[in-house]
Amino acid sequence: MKPKRTADSALAKKLNRAVVIDCIEKYGALSRADIARLTMLSPSTVSSIVAELVDLGIVLESKGTAASSGGRRPILLDLNASASCAAVVDVQVSRVLYGVVDLAGKPIWTAKEEVDLSSPEATFHQVFQIVAKTLARLPRTGAPAAGIGVSIPGIVDTNTGTVIKSTRLKWKELPLANRLEQEFSLPVYVDRDVRAAAWGERLYGLARSADDFVYVMVGKGGLGAGLILGGRSYVGARMQAGELGHMTVDIHGKECSCGNTGCLVTLTYPAIDEVRRYNEKDPIIDCAAIGILNLMNLLDPELVVLGGDIGQEPAFVEQVEKVVQERTFLTPRKNVRLVASQLGEIGIVLGLAGLVFDKFYWKRAFGNVG
Ligand SMILES: [Zn+2]
Repeated sequence: MKPKRTADSALAKKLNRAVVIDCIEKYGALSRADIARLTMLSPSTVSSIVAELVDLGIVLESKGTAASSGGRRPILLDLNASASCAAVVDVQVSRVLYGVVDLAGKPIWTAKEEVDLSSPEATFHQVFQIVAKTLARLPRTGAPAAGIGVSIPGIVDTNTGTVIKSTRLKWKELPLANRLEQEFSLPVYVDRDVRAAAWGERLYGLARSADDFVYVMVGKGGLGAGLILGGRSYVGARMQAGELGHMTVDIHGKECSCGNTGCLVTLTYPAIDEVRRYNEKDPIIDCAAIGILNLMNLLDPELVVLGGDIGQEPAFVEQVEKVVQERTFLTPRKNVRLVASQLGEIGIVLGLAGLVFDKFYWKRAFGNVG
């Protein structure tokens, strides 16, 4: 029995450490007492984990400005932003957004350029060049980059970093992580854009305290959902969860590019972009709203965050909210929350950096167990 107990306590320590890091990452500038209260861990457990994180240089202590109830200024804890950074690239049909994000989730710098969609090879070559450019501009101080993150619109196997299929980038079975790792000798994490965006909202956006929520991206390229369930990014058994655009809403409807008929995208695209431009109330937005409503009725999320260049438009949010409020099955209706992302597109690269840190930095800092 003894070895088992040792393994259990090592696992408990690892989980508690993850909970403390998650708490500091989410709220920042907290005292030990705040962390104990927020995580419901004992003050002694928090103290010993914090001591270890301070020793490792991952957490920094500073004197707070507000007096505590006892009159002394509390010592506040924050992630050491320069302990690591991530190079991140988000590829969309409208642009490529890239940059470097520090461990505390602050973009050190970002840049944007038009995407080259002239051929699948050209797009890949551009991503390759952008990664090289980004790595050349890593900060000279602080620890080396934890890794490279790339997000794309399409189906991605996040375990291997292979793009299974991206209709918009015309990529199929592309071992993107392997190709980039071979060239740049850094670990590479590849994910779907909506999942990175959802993770950004959970770490730094309006879904910060939500363990169950849905991020819906409505952009020029289509409509997709990132699902955070039980505090984790839900990818599904085949990494294909969140295909909101291909939800069938009219079995006798128009043929879709996926081969089915009556998918939500066939009822909303390309006309939805015109609606945005003219800012009109339109039945096309109602169709998109019905898709979002169906997802809400199915999953009962705490909130839905709407993002993407169309999804964030106030007129779009307002009309979707109206449809949802009229038709939702969830009660009480006043608790059904639907909000526009405040982070906007930067949320994608912040979430992507968070995923890179989760996958590479924390494991390297602590090893797999204990
Ligand atoms: Zn379809």
